[in-house]
Amino acid sequence: MCVYNACFTHNITNHMRTLLTILFFVSRFVSIGQQKQVCISIDDLPVVNYGITDSAYQINVFNKILYSLKKNEVPAIGFVNEVKLFNDSNVIHYQVDLLKSWVSNGLELGNHSFSHKDYNNVPFHLYTNEIIKGETVTKKLLSDQNRQIKYFRHPYLHIGNTKVKADSLNDFLNKHNYVTAPVTIDNEDYVFASAYSRAKQKDDTTLMNKIGLEYIAYMGKKIKYYEKQSNHLFGRNISQILLIHASLLNSDYLNSLIALFKANNYVFVSMDNALKDPAYKTEITVFGNWGISWIERWALSTKRKEYINEDPVTPDYIRELGN
Ligand SMILES: [Zn+2]
Repeated sequence: MCVYNACFTHNITNHMRTLLTILFFVSRFVSIGQQKQVCISIDDLPVVNYGITDSAYQINVFNKILYSLKKNEVPAIGFVNEVKLFNDSNVIHYQVDLLKSWVSNGLELGNHSFSHKDYNNVPFHLYTNEIIKGETVTKKLLSDQNRQIKYFRHPYLHIGNTKVKADSLNDFLNKHNYVTAPVTIDNEDYVFASAYSRAKQKDDTTLMNKIGLEYIAYMGKKIKYYEKQSNHLFGRNISQILLIHASLLNSDYLNSLIALFKANNYVFVSMDNALKDPAYKTEITVFGNWGISWIERWALSTKRKEYINEDPVTPDYIRELGN
């Protein structure tokens, strides 16, 4: 027998407990369902040095990037310009060793052409020679680990400014077993990085800190912008691919950038896994001189580009410092 009030309280407590259990599982399910994915890709390896050729400096920049990726278990891919591995025809051994440590740490390497030629400005045969010339060392480093080179990233994201040029390059890449590495979260990290390098050369740590914080805030806005564009096009947030460069700025701020993605509910995936998203099967049918995000290419191709005035801009003072 129970007193009415006690019984009522007991039932309410039971209901509450059941409700809380359901809410717990629903929230778990929803949060797993909303888990966003990003692949971090880093271009112009081993290092974008902004004219500082000192080996200790470059080794430090590279190793800090590598350390941040490893510490956070980020399965990143780096795209190499092998011209940086040679002094005339002599191999610069420490630069090759940096790439070797990248591969031996389980990270992925891709081809970014030998010397970063622009497909908008050079003929097909010269550009494709650059691709072949640009794979020699990378291929060897990967095969030493029983791995194969797979991805090609177009310098300046210039895939061909006409359909004919783009198609002939795609045929070439297919024949040589390359897969194009797209970019969705495009940004001007290189402008911030140039400004940051200038501030470093002036030993202006106050300015360096200011640029670094500005960079992270800007990248936060870029993430939101491309999520919004993705939602417009696909009705969901696709597996994103971020492009950044192997600069001093990113060596100092990669931890913060990774934390920013985590705070936005992202998990980090490999290029292989990002490209499993069916969005990447969307055809590109419109071509131009532009080096833009694949999301914008698809939007132009499907004539569904919403006119959004929200693409975050690089602040003028950063641009002036960087130029
Ligand atoms: Zn590049």
